[in-house]
Amino acid sequence: MAIKVAVSGCAGRMGSTVVDAVQAAEDMELVCGIDPYASNDFGYPVYASISDALQHESFDVLVDFTQPSVVANNLEVALPAGVDCVVGTTGLSQEKLEELAALAPKGTCLFYAPNFTTGAVLMMEFAKVAAPYFPEAEVLEFHHCNKKDAPSGTAVRTAELIASARDFESQAPGKETEIEGAEGARGALVSGVPVHSVRSMGYVASQEVIFGSLGQTLTIRHDSWDRTSYMPGVLLGIRSVENKEGLIVGLENFMY
Ligand code: NAD
Repeated sequence: MAIKVAVSGCAGRMGSTVVDAVQAAEDMELVCGIDPYASNDFGYPVYASISDALQHESFDVLVDFTQPSVVANNLEVALPAGVDCVVGTTGLSQEKLEELAALAPKGTCLFYAPNFTTGAVLMMEFAKVAAPYFPEAEVLEFHHCNKKDAPSGTAVRTAELIASARDFESQAPGKETEIEGAEGARGALVSGVPVHSVRSMGYVASQEVIFGSLGQTLTIRHDSWDRTSYMPGVLLGIRSVENKEGLIVGLENFMY
């Protein structure tokens, strides 16, 4: 039987891409969208709130790509109703996620992934495996100019994983070698790993992790070229939550 899916934030950039992906998936049925600012006729039912949607429709999974200021309220309605939730909206602390998951009845899952691209999750995993074998590691991340934070959350997480997978510090010359007027040339140190943030038109989200050892370098690179790159991860989340319960954080839980 098809998995019945509702998409919260369906008029947004991510939400509308999720709607397309769900409609194209043979094992899923798009039941409705939820978006208070949806003005057009979308060709499927759209409700202004989760409670409205729950009054009129029945669905197994709610996907939420909305805004940090509204996602908690959405989940406070959906989870007690026993709807599994797949959440990509940023801004929820671990503490808040645990609080929300506690509202769900037994058998209901709250799944949150800070990064839904399967390639980025694998890049981090490969970096973790490589870290103990290379004395040097540097992270370079490349994003569009509208990104509000630097370094990216994925770059910070990668640096943390590298640091936790090795029991030594990098020996490469660092900030002390930066010449006057060009401070920052060696990047920002995150958990002892230099991280460099590039912002430019033309990029969506890319990252390179460069490992160095005697006579060799190993480069692990991931490029996300458009929002469809998130969809295999979102669909994996929708398919995986049915038999799970409680709070699950990170796509890697369903990948390996
Ligand atoms: P967007 O602004 O294009 O879309 C957000 C949509 O949510 C809008 O259509 C808005 O009308 C709607 N909305 C507002 N309040 C609502 C409510 N109460 N109920 C339902 N819908 C509501 O934003 P976007 O670029 O699609 O990003 C959405 C979120 O996803 C952001 O937090 C972004 O950081 C995050 N994101 C996460 C990942 C990931 O891999 N986890 C990837 C990309 C984006």
